[in-house]
Amino acid sequence: MSMADNLAAVRTRIDDACRACDRNPGEVSLLPVSKTKPPSMVDEAYRAGYRLFGENKVQDALAKSELMDANHPGLEWSIIGGLQTNKAKYVARFATEFQALDSLKIAHELDKRLQKEGRQLRVLVQVNSSAEPQKSGIAPEEAVDFARELAAFDSLDVRGLMTVALNSSDQRAVADCFDLVVATQEKLRQEAGDTSDWSELSMGMSGDLEIAIAHGSTQVRIGTDIFGARDPARTWRP
Ligand SMILES: *Cc1c(COP(=O)(O)O)cnc(C)c1O
Repeated sequence: MSMADNLAAVRTRIDDACRACDRNPGEVSLLPVSKTKPPSMVDEAYRAGYRLFGENKVQDALAKSELMDANHPGLEWSIIGGLQTNKAKYVARFATEFQALDSLKIAHELDKRLQKEGRQLRVLVQVNSSAEPQKSGIAPEEAVDFARELAAFDSLDVRGLMTVALNSSDQRAVADCFDLVVATQEKLRQEAGDTSDWSELSMGMSGDLEIAIAHGSTQVRIGTDIFGARDPARTWRP
């Protein structure tokens, strides 16, 4: 199958999952996750019509951006992996979105660097919905306080929440993760007194996109089922 075929097949899965739960397929976007894959594959997906790509390592993403942006008008990068403070300056320079915000220190550093660049960044707050200690993300019960502090950072355009659910064959346990994020969104909206805030819910990957959509996802992040399995021996490096 070609890249365009893979993308079309995943898009069909998304549309089918929406119809299965009476949702409008227009409510769920597809973020192709190109991490570890070469620019040639991003180029193929670009030519199939995609413009925003998910990357988890800032330096790799920056290198791809430098190689590709000039001859791919409209190409944009979303950083979906955690960030060390000293990498915030790179994100501020080229990314349009950061989905793994879970610390005020990073928020502060990003805001400072963005001010310097005269840029804005779309941001999602990552929620640790599975309570696994090794996972990134704020605890759901911290969300309201965290959101209150984020309001101070003018360059951060906070759009919603992101989560990586439990990796499990127990569909109920996976669904519980997504439900917890939706409950967190409701709390944030109550606190803000505005039901249009926090509208983006980035939930669902290759293995759990159908469950995520049935439980309220507005964006699925798909790597493997578009670009193939990630082989550590064949990771693209700048
Ligand atoms: C790698 C990654 C994905 C894509 O996962 P697949 O299972 O390959 O679809 C999605 N979200 C995050 C945060 C990731 O790091």
